[in-house]
Amino acid sequence: MTLIKALQQPQTSKKEKVLLTGGTGFVASHVLDSLATNGHPVVVTVRSEEKGNRLLQSLSHFGASKQVQYAIVPDISTKNAFDSILRDHRFTYVIHTASPYQLSFADPINDCLNPAIKGTTYLLDSIHRLCPSVTRVVITSSSAAIINPPNHRDVYDESSWSDVSWEQAMQPEHTYRASKKFAEQAAWSFLEEHNPRFTIATINNTYTFGPLSRSLANSAKFSSAEVNTSNRRIWDLIHGKWRNPDGSAFIPSTAPVFTFVDVRDVADAHLAALTAPGQRYYTVGGFFSNYQIARIVDEEFKGVLGGDVLPDLKGQADDFEEDKHWKFDVSRSEKELGIRYRGLRESVRDAVVSMLEFEKGTAFN
Ligand code: NDP
Repeated sequence: MTLIKALQQPQTSKKEKVLLTGGTGFVASHVLDSLATNGHPVVVTVRSEEKGNRLLQSLSHFGASKQVQYAIVPDISTKNAFDSILRDHRFTYVIHTASPYQLSFADPINDCLNPAIKGTTYLLDSIHRLCPSVTRVVITSSSAAIINPPNHRDVYDESSWSDVSWEQAMQPEHTYRASKKFAEQAAWSFLEEHNPRFTIATINNTYTFGPLSRSLANSAKFSSAEVNTSNRRIWDLIHGKWRNPDGSAFIPSTAPVFTFVDVRDVADAHLAALTAPGQRYYTVGGFFSNYQIARIVDEEFKGVLGGDVLPDLKGQADDFEEDKHWKFDVSRSEKELGIRYRGLRESVRDAVVSMLEFEKGTAFN
């Protein structure tokens, strides 16, 4: 790992310095916005120089780049990958978002479980050994570490843990959710075993929607491959994938998870968790279904997208039935982190606007 480039100016802020992992990611992009807005000097980790430069360029369009540096960590599952960064900087806080998030993995262990679990424990170990100034590590966990499909609780809150097993983790459809549970458990175990100077908080966000990561290609080169996993259903909808050739709707099932949260609320939660009690924080904005997303996009964008893209929703049923559904209790995140959750309409609308802007290459205009 080499620290490649410091952007523009010397750091003058008196705000605490933050290490943010996975800086190119969807969630991290918004965490970075919140950190920069709040004046924190930040070192973000990215996997290549090209990605780091793209990130800095996009930030400079927003005048938010002065106190952001990037450092290259090609693979978080490499032991000591963070050592030189942690030796070189006096961080007060670390926010760990980096973790593989895809729907399936060719090699569950090497492509997903190792980066998620070892990536977390190696980072904590390096902080413990090398950066005594760190007081709090905030880890992006997931609602996947909380909820338990198909045997749902009546009400989920932070006291709940998924019972997904290591055997299930080898099946592609369960690998990701297992990686989040085992990575979070590894973090809490590290705390118990090593009693480090720092404390931990986790953000357990559910399906997260909203404006795309800034560091994507802002041009005609932009493609579906650039869209992060949780926003991809919205991308598919606005690219005609939920429409049959005769115009009727093909709306995929929403199951098993019918809860969403806006990425900007998730970012605010990470920031607030830097100084809140060291806890798990379940973050959910509300219920959603694919039908409701299609309805919102139809109402907001039909004129913009043209008549042959969106499906005809006449006669389509909503597969979400609130009275039959499990409930969630996010009072801890509301009370301790001060989050006032955005609604589905705002989240979907802003996601679509940002997708259209990236495609047109006008995202930074
Ligand atoms: P993204 O795929 O957009 O971001 C993931 C980030 O992790 C990217 O920067 C990626 O780098 C980096 N990364 C992945 N694997 C490695 C690795 N082996 N070494 C180094 N870096 C790696 O996903 P999100 O932003 O959506 O997810 C961020 C976090 O939020 C994850 O921990 C995810 O589990 C969690 N989360 C996300 C939810 C969602 O709905 N989006 C819901 C709940 C939790 P690169 O892009 O260069 O590959």
